[in-house]
Amino acid sequence: MRSRGSLSHNMRVLIITSCTGEKTSSPANQLTLEDFAQGRAHLAKREKELKDFAQPAGEIYTGQQHVRLMRGIEAVKEDKKLKIDLHILSAGYGMIPADQVVVPYECTFATMKTREMRQWADKLQVPQEFRETVDQKYDFGLVLLGDDYLKACALDAGVKFGGPTLLFCGTGTAKKLHPMKHVRVVEISNPEAKRFSCGLVALKGELATLVLKGVAKDPAVVKHLMDSSFDVLAWLEDQGAHAEAQGAQRKEKRKKPSAGSAAQREQTAPRARGTVNPKVDHVIQIPQSWWDKPHRKKLRYFIPEWDDLVDPDYDFITDQHAGDNCGWGNAVYAHQMYPEPNYDGLLMSRAVAEKSKAKKERINAMGVHRMLRVPREFPIMGDCGAFDYIMEETPPYTTEDVLDYYTRLDFDLGISVDHLIVSATEAQKQFRYDLTINNAEDFLKQHRKAGLKWEPIGAVQGWDPASYARAAEKYVKMGYKYIALGGLVRTTSREILEVVQKVREKVPANVAIHVLGVARLDWMNTFAEAGVQSADSASFLRQAWMRINQSYTSFDGPYAALRIPEAGNSFRAKHMEKHPDLSEDKILKMEQQALSAVRAYGAKTGGMADALESLLEYDQFVTSDRVDMRDAYTRTLSDRPWDKCSCAICQKWGIEVIIFRGNNRNRRRGFHNTYVFYRLLQQVLAGQPVAFLAKEGLKDQLQLSLT
Ligand SMILES: [Zn+2]
Repeated sequence: MRSRGSLSHNMRVLIITSCTGEKTSSPANQLTLEDFAQGRAHLAKREKELKDFAQPAGEIYTGQQHVRLMRGIEAVKEDKKLKIDLHILSAGYGMIPADQVVVPYECTFATMKTREMRQWADKLQVPQEFRETVDQKYDFGLVLLGDDYLKACALDAGVKFGGPTLLFCGTGTAKKLHPMKHVRVVEISNPEAKRFSCGLVALKGELATLVLKGVAKDPAVVKHLMDSSFDVLAWLEDQGAHAEAQGAQRKEKRKKPSAGSAAQREQTAPRARGTVNPKVDHVIQIPQSWWDKPHRKKLRYFIPEWDDLVDPDYDFITDQHAGDNCGWGNAVYAHQMYPEPNYDGLLMSRAVAEKSKAKKERINAMGVHRMLRVPREFPIMGDCGAFDYIMEETPPYTTEDVLDYYTRLDFDLGISVDHLIVSATEAQKQFRYDLTINNAEDFLKQHRKAGLKWEPIGAVQGWDPASYARAAEKYVKMGYKYIALGGLVRTTSREILEVVQKVREKVPANVAIHVLGVARLDWMNTFAEAGVQSADSASFLRQAWMRINQSYTSFDGPYAALRIPEAGNSFRAKHMEKHPDLSEDKILKMEQQALSAVRAYGAKTGGMADALESLLEYDQFVTSDRVDMRDAYTRTLSDRPWDKCSCAICQKWGIEVIIFRGNNRNRRRGFHNTYVFYRLLQQVLAGQPVAFLAKEGLKDQLQLSLT
């Protein structure tokens, strides 16, 4: 006779979690505590105003605990063993089911004083609603509330739980909880965060995912979970280790002998930061006017992210860091230094995201938006960084692995795994071409099967317009709505145009085209009109330190930066110490003289001749074979472009921005360049004449892309 045990059909799983401060959008007029306090009629009116932002509660929160929990729920959905009943305790709405539609609001129990919290929670009837929610029959329950949210529920020994329930909370709270029937309290704090390689804010979501996967795999485990001799955390660790071992196995299989370069990268990666300065670690707010920028309808500009951060409190006079370096915990991204971002989105390569162990752990714990300190709605595109494995036979990532990576880190757009076709790999041309196409096909199939929400982009490689067009035609048939043309970084603009035109002939208007690594100011409007919808490049950022003569961009054309390398510290300065006529003292003196004369000129307390001569005196020793900088420096000094720039960086740091010296100045200059580029790009796309491009000889130079 067939068994009719309870395990043969759905297990009902009840989950109660906290709302999070981070939400999919945070409009300026979002609800506040006062709106909730003013009663139903007022609330309904305010909700109407915010109706464009309305979403089911299960989808609106983007805090890491919630994001991870939702991933876990998604993951177990497919085999239909568990029927999840998710409830959220919102500090505005009270206890609500995940499918209840809500609008963005800003209030949390975490910041309220005890008495205020008690009064508000009682007004929302939180204790009562919690009791009603758990007093119903279920097979397994999970309570993932934060400490303040638990307090709001005023739990006591009399609360009736309708099934075996795990309650995760901090050690302090655990001590204060009354023993409750059917409830097992699992204490978690910093050591557990470390044990599960996950930030404390995300930990409950992470653990819930492991619990759900474990229970889905073996529903009988539930009865053990309530047994105090059963080590829940060790069991969860096994669930996690199992998944990781599978990942490691896959990785081992793929591994190609390129350990040398990987080890080098590891060495140059930023050191792990023990402490994070809360002053730098916050998500930016973006004004509505930025979202409404018209150029984006024509073309979006993404900037590749390569750990370009600066110390906001760097002391330029003493050349001292406020913390100890430009590490993530002590430094800010370009978009944190301006009232709004100077790009329409960020592009992060997997090779960059996982450059060091510390960085990988951080990005895994935080997700890509939080780590880059942008709101959830800010577009982030992911790719694998094909340049990084250009010489390997096959890409080091599998499609499955990359899909998981984009999903886990919460990317908005993800590019399929491609392999570059360049002259050095001529013999493998067809192999790489086919591999890229096969990967794209696989990528879209698996993306659809898993029902993923982010936008898949098919990477196209080729060697001439016809080969790109042939592949693109296939992608359209596969069903792609977005394709990215790769391998064009070293191609001339005219040839890129031919590629785009040929591809566009085969690709209908509802399919968008991105060009990877190409954002050439003088051609952008032409590309856009030929059918390109987005592009990425960091050339303007990087020319701040890659090209002395075009280091500082202005709206009227580029300027040379004033080179004063740090004596004894920089590559160039070390080189000059070998000069037989120079003592260390003499070098230091020349360096300080150059700095003070340039600063005096910047402050208009010193003359230009003084600044120029002391610069040139120091400069002649920088390298032996260098060109005379007199004309270039004269032009920079007499035009004073830093005074004319209205960007926040030039306004604050003035002439320091145009001194070529160390990351804190050079990257700031790069950020300034990006600010100028973004504005020029908008003018170009609007069909306006741009003085910058009228400069003699500049056009050709700008056609070279530096990425
Ligand atoms: Zn500026």
